[in-house]
Amino acid sequence: MIQAPYDHFRNPRARYALAMARDKTKCGDCGGRMTQGFVLDVTHGGRVTSRWIEGKPERSFWAGVKTKGHETREIESWRCDDCGLLREYAGKAILANRGW
Ligand SMILES: [Zn+2]
Repeated sequence: MIQAPYDHFRNPRARYALAMARDKTKCGDCGGRMTQGFVLDVTHGGRVTSRWIEGKPERSFWAGVKTKGHETREIESWRCDDCGLLREYAGKAILANRGW
């Protein structure tokens, strides 16, 4: 008998993983409750949230790495209250060099 092609939407484990991945408030590892937070960067300019920058890093003498012309997003970081797993999302787009 010929086996039906693998359909991951019918696979209960894959479907579970997909459902977990879509729910930011549930831990994908243990099913615990996720609490929203952010990753803090301490720079000479003060305290800022970490940013997601599109593309590969390019070194800059003045700024460390160049961000001009690159899509920039604030990183949302969720932590599981039970196992400590961190899951990060590149959130809303922001203007580079604003509030760094
Ligand atoms: Zn967990």
